[in-house]
Amino acid sequence: MIGWLVGLIVFCILVAYCGVPVLWTRVFHLSSRRYTNKPGKVALTFDDGPHPEYTPQLLDVLKSCGVRATFFVIVDHALKYPEIVERMMAEGHEVQVHGERHLFVPFLHPVLTYRQSVGASRILQQRFGVLANVYRPTWGACNLATLFLLPRHDMHMLLWSVMVGDWRRTEPGELVRRVTDKLSDRAVIVLHDSDWSYGAERGAPLQVIAAIPEIVQAVRERGCDFALASECV
Ligand SMILES: [Zn+2]
Repeated sequence: MIGWLVGLIVFCILVAYCGVPVLWTRVFHLSSRRYTNKPGKVALTFDDGPHPEYTPQLLDVLKSCGVRATFFVIVDHALKYPEIVERMMAEGHEVQVHGERHLFVPFLHPVLTYRQSVGASRILQQRFGVLANVYRPTWGACNLATLFLLPRHDMHMLLWSVMVGDWRRTEPGELVRRVTDKLSDRAVIVLHDSDWSYGAERGAPLQVIAAIPEIVQAVRERGCDFALASECV
């Protein structure tokens, strides 16, 4: 009997710590944002980089389109390729936090959860001098510790309103069609500039890069301009 009771208590704690925060943010859209805060503004965001092959090509395309974007970086990659992060900043893009490493946050204990969010932000601030106060958890999934930590450290969670499965190799025209179908005023578009994360197909970011000019055109044809993540929270 005591064994069952202990099991039930442990189960309830796990649900409260790992499960409820995911529902809270992803299903009920609480303690998180997924739209920009101004009409006529759309945010173009990239997760998982920087990557030494794809991110510089993406920066070239963004420059030719005259668009500023937000990069939710993995800090381990950012420290390995600091010149790419410095180029992002020099070209007017924003650097924000995706995590120290690409881990599944709901199962992390509070200390590692801190390192994924607040700790990662501090490293970016110390190394690159950026105020990285917007956090997008890896796979968009957080835990109870995340929900307590972010407001206490003046950080905000930004998810997305447009996700198109671009981590799988997909024809650029198909990516454009999917983005256009889901595009709305104040949309936050998430794409990926790395294929290192679990579940990503090798080479997928090349097709994302090829789709960018038409995605930018689609946003402008709706009469929208581009916003950075810090302008969404
Ligand atoms: Zn990711």
